[in-house]
Amino acid sequence: MLEKNNIHTIKIEDLGHSGEGVGRIEGFTVFVEGGIPGDTLKIKTINVKKNYGTGKIIEIVEPSEYRTNPLCSLANICGGCQIMHMDYQAQLDIKGKRVKETLERIGKIHTNVLPTLGMENPYEYRNKAQFPVGIVKGAAIFGFYKKGTHDIIDTDYCHIQAPINKEVVEAMKEYIMDYKVSVYDEKTRKGLIRHLVTKVGFTTEEVMVVLVTNGKELPYKEELVKIFTKKVKGLKSIVQNINDRNTNIIFGRETIAIFGENKIVDYIGDLKFHISAQSFFQVNSLQTKVLYEKALDYAELKGVESVFDIYCGIGTISLFLARKAKKVIGVEAVEAAIEDAKENAKINNIHNAEFYVGKAEEVIPRFYTEGIKADVVVVDPPRKGCEEEVLETIVKMDPQRVVYVSCNPATLARDLAYLQERGYETMEVQPVDMFPHTAHVETVVLMSRK
Ligand code: SAH
Repeated sequence: MLEKNNIHTIKIEDLGHSGEGVGRIEGFTVFVEGGIPGDTLKIKTINVKKNYGTGKIIEIVEPSEYRTNPLCSLANICGGCQIMHMDYQAQLDIKGKRVKETLERIGKIHTNVLPTLGMENPYEYRNKAQFPVGIVKGAAIFGFYKKGTHDIIDTDYCHIQAPINKEVVEAMKEYIMDYKVSVYDEKTRKGLIRHLVTKVGFTTEEVMVVLVTNGKELPYKEELVKIFTKKVKGLKSIVQNINDRNTNIIFGRETIAIFGENKIVDYIGDLKFHISAQSFFQVNSLQTKVLYEKALDYAELKGVESVFDIYCGIGTISLFLARKAKKVIGVEAVEAAIEDAKENAKINNIHNAEFYVGKAEEVIPRFYTEGIKADVVVVDPPRKGCEEEVLETIVKMDPQRVVYVSCNPATLARDLAYLQERGYETMEVQPVDMFPHTAHVETVVLMSRK
């Protein structure tokens, strides 16, 4: 029997969904934060449930051959990167292995999984940063949350963010300290500045700064603009977002432009996109291009096809597809995203893409009854995967190919199995590393009609 507060030696054999090491003690599965496959660890059991437990590292008895010194000194404390202490190639390999094993275990799909496409330089890749703000001993601090808590770690440089964030944080500290601007306290719900959010165009180097405030009144606006424009190269936009609710959700409903417009421009490949404070945009611009090109490649378009892009967001994949297809129809539940998608089509002079707002599980069956069909279907659903109504309708529409973009191998496996049982075959599986040093894995799959 595994018991709490006992010391054990454990060999880590795998990596869990959140990047924790996984091993076994007396038949129990034990999750160890910070452990990586190949490690032999001395651990203390913290939590013991009926058939699994969690443990804390007391000592690394023998380090895994994949263990490296993380570039970031906060890697072990910060909740942002879970596997930065693992060699990058080993990260890519283990992500591929996880996709393969999940497809086999949940979907009973035995297929070749291509090596994960990684980044040449897996640092400074994020185009969006969200810093909570706090005060410690009278000084403003910015950073990220400590693992599993809401304690802020003061971070002046994050290795996976765009480097310009350093100047943005400096500017923000200067504004708060020089003008004695108050900072929000989660407990008392008093104080003004809640979050600092930045968005950076990787191609254009345009920068947007968003101040999320608890209340509308923002003091010393002119001075604020002066500080930021002096310090931050490429600054195109400062916006205030008001969030006075007691919630973990960062953004509130109202957004006011303070400097420039609520907009920056960036490119994925040669397609141009308008990005606003709240709009969704893939966070890794370079790998997004790799992912979309793969999806486009799998779609094998010759210019005569009608294509559906289901769960299209702001229409990014749709526009990639539109240039090679006869027509693309994008479907998405969030109305603001569909407005962005239409705008993005316009600024790229793309006229063969149409966008519809609504739940895919309602819109797609309605299309079918109206006789609107697709030759190729692309889906890119949220973590919970596709609703069965969507898959059922795809099968009825009988497209030649289905391209599935997924951020969750478990629901991907379930959905591929559904399609596989109904006339489709999994042809190729390609994991793409969109989030180096974290446990997330993105996959694009080609299915063809048998
Ligand atoms: N393909 C886009 C966005 C993918 S994220 C891109 O690459 O940028 C998944 C999208 O599905 C989100 O935009 C989310 O708003 C949308 N979504 C979630 N549930 C949905 C549903 N039931 N019907 C339609 N869209 C949905």
